[in-house]
Amino acid sequence: MKKERISIPQPRSTFLLVQCQKCENEQIIYSMTNNNILCKICDAIIAEKTGGKAKIHGAFIRRLD
Ligand SMILES: [Zn+2]
Repeated sequence: MKKERISIPQPRSTFLLVQCQKCENEQIIYSMTNNNILCKICDAIIAEKTGGKAKIHGAFIRRLD
């Protein structure tokens, strides 16, 4: 009997904690986004959509996983 390998799908996207460069507000964003993510406080772009992984404009603090 063959042993079957159980593959656990690795999530490609994660949540990231990013700090706004303008007002230093810390915000949780999704690493894959179809929209530009704006700071909730000052409306600056924190992450820009690229069609894949978001391009982070603010300061990346850490991953949340
Ligand atoms: Zn801000």
